[in-house]
Amino acid sequence: MASNDVVILGAGGAGLMCGIEAGRRGRSVIVVDHSEKVGGKILISGGGRCNFTNLSVAPKNYVSENEHFCKSAFARFTPQDFIQRVESHKIPYHEKTLGQLFCDDSAKRIVEMLKEDCQSAGVQIRTGCKVKGVKKHHGVFQVDTEAEVLEAESLVVATGGLSLPKLGATGIGYEIAKQFGLKLVERAPALDGFVLGPQDADLAQLAGVAVDCEVSCRGSLFREALLFTHRGLSGPVALQASLHWRPGSMIEINLSPDQHLFEWFREKKAQGSRMQVKNILSDLIPARVAEWLCSKYFESTEPLISVSEKELKKFCDRLHSWKLQPQGTVGYSKAEVTRGGVDTVELSSKTMESKKVPGLYFIGEVVDVTGWLGGYNFQWAWSSGWCAGQVV
Ligand SMILES: Cc1cc2nc3c(=O)[nH]c(=O)nc-3n(C[C@H](O)[C@H](O)[C@H](O)COP(=O)(O)OP(=O)(O)OC[C@H]3O[C@@H](n4cnc5c(N)ncnc54)[C@H](O)[C@@H]3O)c2cc1C
Repeated sequence: MASNDVVILGAGGAGLMCGIEAGRRGRSVIVVDHSEKVGGKILISGGGRCNFTNLSVAPKNYVSENEHFCKSAFARFTPQDFIQRVESHKIPYHEKTLGQLFCDDSAKRIVEMLKEDCQSAGVQIRTGCKVKGVKKHHGVFQVDTEAEVLEAESLVVATGGLSLPKLGATGIGYEIAKQFGLKLVERAPALDGFVLGPQDADLAQLAGVAVDCEVSCRGSLFREALLFTHRGLSGPVALQASLHWRPGSMIEINLSPDQHLFEWFREKKAQGSRMQVKNILSDLIPARVAEWLCSKYFESTEPLISVSEKELKKFCDRLHSWKLQPQGTVGYSKAEVTRGGVDTVELSSKTMESKKVPGLYFIGEVVDVTGWLGGYNFQWAWSSGWCAGQVV
């Protein structure tokens, strides 16, 4: 039986950050992961360039049963703190859009940085090591792995969510929470886009076309690209909306966020335009989408000058507020994150320690704090990992 101060389950962003901080405090730390590679999700993130943080991180960028829970961690370890580390490792980066910071060359640089920091803090990392179970005996945690039993005063669960099982995602973090009597918030795949039902099957004709638009879902509004797929909707704006979606909810799409369509058509009409509506509309939105919308919602093939204002207004209103009812989201095979997880009422917002089970910590995606697309999920992994690392 090997004894350490701290055992961390999961060598993703949260687990490694926690290990570095605890190691720097002189604690003996072992990080265990069943995957062969550490930071598997970091490596594939951001299209291989890792969107490692966002310049403005606020509770409104997260979905959680308790929107205030994340505040303390973000105040203690900020995006600037992580950026300083990236700079001190001379990793070149750039702001892509909306405050999103990406590596210039490769996400590998972030994993190398974390591994180097672990090494200099004396943290042991054991990969290819499956965790079979955990128990607490006389105040000491025992982690039963395929190789050996590890003992520690502090056990940190950083096993992430259920998304991308082929990369090693498992539900063990949730099982451990349940085993120790901690409540869970219902989990669902998120940041995965939508599958549409049979009523919208004809939208598959638009597969591959992207449109810049606004999408709102249950009070949250996003503006980015929407991509039509064979099965539904993808692209950043659909991914964002899928985080807020619940079964049965509608999504509302504004296909012309910058131009008031009715006024715009009226002006063209006043100028005596003899073009068909679909052809005029294709000046604003991709022609295939304009044609599809007209074939579906605007029967008249008359030139604009002959179209009644009532008919035109009805069509324009629909395009500003096009409602669809997705059948579901795409699922864990494509989801960037898992929404829900260990209920934050169970944890200290300062340390991430369980209130019921001293010495047991949950950090990163396994906790019910789920960020928007845009670097927010990694910042949560860094900040929550850092907080636990100060005390484990
Ligand atoms: C395709 C994709 C792209 C993404 N891009 C971005 C991005 O650009 N920016 C951003 O902010 N977020 C991004 N995310 C989300 C981000 O990757 C996660 O939120 C973040 O990695 C969570 O970190 P974590 O340490 O909590 O969990 P993870 O990174 O999931 O780490 C958990 C670790 O636990 C290990 N583990 C699981 N079960 C066991 C077990 N039974 N025994 C031992 N080990 C186990 C896993 O192998 C894994 O290494 C992306 C996600 C995906 C899937």
